[in-house]
Amino acid sequence: MKILKISAWQPDCVGSPPDWRTKLGQIVVEIELEGGISGLGVGGGGQAGIHVIESVLQECLLKENYSCPQEAHSAMLEHTAFYGRKGIVPMAISGVDLAIWDAYAKQRNFSVYELLTDEPAPATLPMYQTVFDDAEALAAVEQGKEAVKLHVERFGDRPDPLVIRKLVRATREKLGPSKSIMLDAFGRWDVETTLRVADVIYELGVDWIEEPVPPDALSDYTTLNQRSPIPIAGGEHEYLSEGFKDLADRDAVSVFQPDINWCGGLTTLVEIYRIAEEAGIRVVPHRGSEPFSLPVIAALDKNPLAESARKWFTCIDGVALPNVDGVPLKLNPGFGVRIIEEKNQGSR
Ligand SMILES: [Mg+2]
Repeated sequence: MKILKISAWQPDCVGSPPDWRTKLGQIVVEIELEGGISGLGVGGGGQAGIHVIESVLQECLLKENYSCPQEAHSAMLEHTAFYGRKGIVPMAISGVDLAIWDAYAKQRNFSVYELLTDEPAPATLPMYQTVFDDAEALAAVEQGKEAVKLHVERFGDRPDPLVIRKLVRATREKLGPSKSIMLDAFGRWDVETTLRVADVIYELGVDWIEEPVPPDALSDYTTLNQRSPIPIAGGEHEYLSEGFKDLADRDAVSVFQPDINWCGGLTTLVEIYRIAEEAGIRVVPHRGSEPFSLPVIAALDKNPLAESARKWFTCIDGVALPNVDGVPLKLNPGFGVRIIEEKNQGSR
């Protein structure tokens, strides 16, 4: 596999939030292989991620012939080893890695799912809906979603646990006893707040509390994972297999939530599944029903659950629309995605 060309740009996305996800956020990466096959990936890091690709990863990747995507991934890690273990560099590598997997699969006329397993593909995967306010929660419940994750950062850094309990109880009453409820604090709480909340919502049946404290507060995660009556989830802001191995070794979380577009790409996500299996940790990738994570979840996860796609993920066509059974898995060559040309070429 000889890579002839790599380009990266930041798309103008309809509905992009006016924060780091736009300014520092998603980038589209396109590679071209010898023979004319091209591949598409989405990474992160915004203009800084593009700079990493253009100034460092290109010079490393265009020289060699790789037998598989993992070899190219190793070359990128080696090339950035002295400065790129978290954040922008793995976010940039993610986009390139996904583009390479896309092209590699297309070269063989396989979907990415078919590259990862010989098992028959499921038609759909169960999914959960992430909601940010009461109206979204109500809509998700009315649509009969299997599970709902409530973002609770709007209640502040030290919310009254009884306010959170009221929210969870109201959601439980609407959902009924069999569906799942999760909470996401987006790293805003501390250990004491998390335990106080966990104690008063435990009996309402909550599958996990996600990112209760900031992502680097690892000893706090270990404390919480040992003391909370509700499982602790995290990893949305963790990177590379070394980062997830560290979380596992520290007993920091019970649920890994890697983001394939940030953590290091498909190569890293496959390694994370292996680490998780050894450690007995569940994997529920961040925004897993978007087209890059979905085939990996379908192929590798014994207890699959795909998070709803983000509304701002609008630069790529190929995001499967959920139906009453969950999110459909498509088996087109590669990841089955294409750029929505008319909206996104302006800033290329
Ligand atoms: Mg989250």
